[in-house]
Amino acid sequence: MNPQMLTLLRESRGYSGAQLAKLAGIPQPTLSKMENGLAAIDEARLQKLADALDYPLEAFSWTDPIYGFGSAAFYHRKQQALPQTTLRKIQAQVNLTRMRLDRLLRSIEIDSQYVVPSLDVEEHGSPAEVARAVRALWRLPMGPIRDMAAALELAGVIVVRGNLESPKIAAISLDNVGTYPALIILNKGLPADRERFTLAHELGHLVMHSVLVTTDEAEREADSFAAEFLMPAAEIRTALKGITLARAAQLKVVWRVAISALIRRARDLGVIDENRYKSLMVSMSQKGWRKAEPVDVPHDHPTVMSSLITVHLTEHGYSFDELARVVALNQDEFSARFELSLPRLPEPKNTHLRAMK
Ligand SMILES: [Zn+2]
Repeated sequence: MNPQMLTLLRESRGYSGAQLAKLAGIPQPTLSKMENGLAAIDEARLQKLADALDYPLEAFSWTDPIYGFGSAAFYHRKQQALPQTTLRKIQAQVNLTRMRLDRLLRSIEIDSQYVVPSLDVEEHGSPAEVARAVRALWRLPMGPIRDMAAALELAGVIVVRGNLESPKIAAISLDNVGTYPALIILNKGLPADRERFTLAHELGHLVMHSVLVTTDEAEREADSFAAEFLMPAAEIRTALKGITLARAAQLKVVWRVAISALIRRARDLGVIDENRYKSLMVSMSQKGWRKAEPVDVPHDHPTVMSSLITVHLTEHGYSFDELARVVALNQDEFSARFELSLPRLPEPKNTHLRAMK
């Protein structure tokens, strides 16, 4: 039993020490000592804790490193003031996602076609120049990026969706934590255009900001990278001339970016002036579009995580129950989290996975 895992698993459920002690029927001082490694945990008590937390016993002996929000590996978009218990819950969930991924990658290697380069903004001139360089490096065709998640996954980045507890958080990225360049966890329930912009923004950070940088300047650079990556100036400028809300709604279908992003792009490229920009934004507010935009664009399809699961089940001979224990989840949570429905399993979609000898 790893005391740190006990704490992490408790926090992943959002429980305080007192709450878990009550649920498991263990005196709180004893639980506190267990978490600090000062009290031994007998099997009976471990089972009570596992039942109360609804995790299989295996999870309590994991010894993986645990990363915190303060570490260089862990940054999240726009740090917002959230309650401590919520932050701890998110931090625990993100760590568990990474630990599960590491277990699934023990016998399967991801065969990526491209790399995520490290490019210096000053050297290239601007975040837009960097975005153009990455587009060229990845041989992306001109025009809209059809599937941003798929593009990232071709470069080895792993994209998953998860419950990040607060609508204020769009995504959390972890880099330098595994054999892959980064893990990006998108918050569930975001509109597709917001997901795509978030992914492009995170890619900007990965490419341009090698160490922990949370300055406003870095945020602006990542936004400007994302804007050029998703809406290259040379290709979109003409279409933005004389932009109206109706026209922006049509362009949203084509470019798969938010109406607000298109209007901002028109201003940033000097196609419309500040007054026109402001009046369009006021019209958007009046229509309620700042809260929820019309026109839904299709969601991207990250496939690596689900393919890892499927390959284990279909080709590596794992039973559903065995694989659930590998990732330390009970069966119900396992199928819910990975959107698995028995007995019909998804076909492996990802062609760039390779079994390791
Ligand atoms: Zn950012």
